Amino acid sequence: MVLPGAFISLERSFADIIATGWRTASGELVQAVQSAVDAGDYDTAHDLVDRLNLAGALDGFWPQLEDLAVAAFIFGEQNYSGNTHTTALSRGDIPIPPELAKAITQLSLSLSQPAMARLSHFAHTMLRAMETSTDPAVALFRKADGAEKTLIDREAQKVADMVANLTASRIASFGFLTDARIGGATTYQVTEVLDGLTCPVCRYMHGRTFDVAAEYERTLEALGTDDPKDLQSIAPWPDQSRAGLRRLNRLDEAEMQARGYGSPPYHPSCRGLLTRSGTVTGGIAVGGLMAALPMILRGRSDNDLSLDVIADPDLRGRVRDLLGPEGQQMVVASYIEGGPAEAEAVLSDLA
Ligand SMILES: [Zn+2]
Repeated sequence: MVLPGAFISLERSFADIIATGWRTASGELVQAVQSAVDAGDYDTAHDLVDRLNLAGALDGFWPQLEDLAVAAFIFGEQNYSGNTHTTALSRGDIPIPPELAKAITQLSLSLSQPAMARLSHFAHTMLRAMETSTDPAVALFRKADGAEKTLIDREAQKVADMVANLTASRIASFGFLTDARIGGATTYQVTEVLDGLTCPVCRYMHGRTFDVAAEYERTLEALGTDDPKDLQSIAPWPDQSRAGLRRLNRLDEAEMQARGYGSPPYHPSCRGLLTRSGTVTGGIAVGGLMAALPMILRGRSDNDLSLDVIADPDLRGRVRDLLGPEGQQMVVASYIEGGPAEAEAVLSDLA
């Protein structure tokens, strides 16, 4: 099996392309907003923010994005076949599925709609805060001294990381199910990374067994839709509130799958994957979520994350040299949730 780190690299590559697309598409307008702010003209700044647009930001990156989609698909396949040389696609048993191109179209659409809405909401909120603030040093669209990114670029990176995770995770699930179906498997299991960051939903979904054929159909449907609202109903996220967890706990596995919980992601930045039936042990029994909840929540505060999670040796070295154990845990947690940019931001806050 390929190391889980390979999947994180794939997600990062998606996220880097999205963030580069954002900077290319919005660079001039972002500078114009900062100039308006500098001139104290907040009305113009707000108007300019409304003109920020990410539609078409990925147009120049289509070939790279398609390559990444194929890599994410093969990653999912090898969770079934055992290694990357024995997957249906690498053996030439199947053509490149047309759904991969659809997944990239979906990615592009989600940038022009929900993701952009989140970014402009952030920009308007920050502008209103700056307008009433007595601190003239707040810069939203210009780098602060020594900063690697502007505030808006940092927010854009978060959005990019989230969208990248969703895309890579959905494609990987599709790859797994494709090979499981060809191989004649009838069921599969969900496997999650279990550490101090695992949420109650993922802890409970770890080890759940679902039906291959039904999930394959559902995934095809999810990858085929162009409407973000459709996608929400086909691939919904379980409610993480206590009431939501209680509802999840009352469902048997067939009901969970019927509601769209048959494969990750269960939320943005979800680390769950699909795997062969019989390989996951130590899961919580169906109906046992509420009884296990105190243990799960205790585990979450009792972090013990290895610094090795951070792939970049330079960043890892600085975290080790500059911070104590508690600070190191916070940076590693932020790295897992938000990538290198987020880890750098937390490091510079703490160091
Ligand atoms: Zn989770």
